[in-house]
Amino acid sequence: MSKKLCKLVKDDILDKDMKEYMKFVSDGKYVCKKCGRVANKEENLCSAKKLKSKDE
Ligand SMILES: [Zn+2]
Repeated sequence: MSKKLCKLVKDDILDKDMKEYMKFVSDGKYVCKKCGRVANKEENLCSAKKLKSKDE
């Protein structure tokens, strides 16, 4: 089961496990349209939208 970053942040992952949080946001490629979070995997956000990159 994939964890949602949006929920983890609400559950205080920043206080509990900063390293785990970093794994989600490093090299972020998607932004959540609802929460404004950024993650590198679409599945980790509740309403993901792909960020534009220089390559596209
Ligand atoms: Zn979200």
